[in-house]
Amino acid sequence: MAISTVAVIGAGTMGAGIAQICAQAGWKTNLFDAYPEGLEKGMSAINAFWDKGIERGKTTPEQKDEWSANIHPFSDMVAAVKEADMVIEAVPEVLQIKARIFHVLGEETKEDCLLGTNTSSLSIADIAAASGRPDKVIGMHFFNPVPIMKLLELVKHDLCSEETIALAKSAGNAMGKTTILVKDVPGFATSRLGVVLGNEAIKMLADGVASATDIDNAMVLGYKHPMGPLALTDLVGLDVRRDILLNLKKSFNDESYTPHPLLNELIEMGRLGKKTGKGIYDWSDGVPKDTDLP
Ligand code: NAD
Repeated sequence: MAISTVAVIGAGTMGAGIAQICAQAGWKTNLFDAYPEGLEKGMSAINAFWDKGIERGKTTPEQKDEWSANIHPFSDMVAAVKEADMVIEAVPEVLQIKARIFHVLGEETKEDCLLGTNTSSLSIADIAAASGRPDKVIGMHFFNPVPIMKLLELVKHDLCSEETIALAKSAGNAMGKTTILVKDVPGFATSRLGVVLGNEAIKMLADGVASATDIDNAMVLGYKHPMGPLALTDLVGLDVRRDILLNLKKSFNDESYTPHPLLNELIEMGRLGKKTGKGIYDWSDGVPKDTDLP
C-alpha cells in the first residue's frame, strides 16, 4: 500500500517532529491535538525549525512553502484520521489515554490503515488490543529531536502482521530513518541498554573510579559515543531513568536493574539533571561542569 495521507495524534515535542518529517516526506499530514494551545505550539515549533533551516542555508524558502502546504492542523480527531493511510500517536505516556485513542482509531480509520504508537515504555500489545485491529498496530519509537535523530525503533508484538512491519519500515525509510526491529519487551533495545550503561557509570562515579567528565570521556573518546552516559542521564532526567530501571527490575524480576543509591540520593536532593540546572553535573552555564556529589 502506498502512503499519501498521514495523521499524527498529539502535537507536543515528539508529535510536532513526526508531523514535520511526514510533511517533508511529501505526505499530506493532518496534525491533531486535544488542546488548542498544544496544536499552536506544535505548528510554531515546526515553522521555527524550518525558518532556522533557511537562516542556516539548509532549507530553501521554496522547500518550506512546499512542506508547509502539506501540514493541516485539526481540532477534530475523527476528521483528522478518516482518510489516513498511516496514523502515528504521540500523546502522553499514559496507557488509559493511548488505549482510548486506539479504540477510536480502530473504529474510525480505513481498514488497512497502519496504526503506530510512539510509546517509549508501554506494552505495544496492550495498546494494540484496544484498537480491535491489533495486526495493524506497531510501535514506532522515534527519538528526540525527531527531525535530526536517525533511528526509528520498530516494536512488534505477537499479533503484528508482516505487512504492517514492512509498511512501517518503508514509511520510516521515506522519513529518512534507519529502522531496527525489536520484540515487544520492556525497554525495547534502546532504553534497556541506555539505562544500564548510565547506572553503571553512576556506580563508577560513586566508587571514585574517575570524575564524571573522565567517565564520560572514556565513552566519547574511547568508544566514539556522541555523548557520555552521565551527561546523557542528566539530559534525559535522573527521575525518568530511575523509573525505567524500576520498571525493568519489576518486569524481568532482575536485581541488576536496581537504581544505584547515588541516583536516588541526587533525585531526593532535587538534582534531576539539566532540567533543574543540576544533576550529576552543574549545567548553570549550559555546559556540563563537574560538581560536588553527596
Ligand atoms: P508532550 O507532553 O510534549 O506532548 C504530548 C501532546 O499530546 C501535548 O501537545 C498534549 O496537548 C497532547 N495530548 C494530551 N492528551 C491528548 C489526547 N487525548 N489526544 C490528543 N492529544 C493529546 O509529550 P512528548 O514528549 O511528545 O511524548 C509523547 C510520546 O512520545 C510519549 O508516549 C513519550 O513516551 C514518547 N517519547 C518521548 C520522547 C521524548 O524525548 N520526549 C522520546 C521518545 C518517545
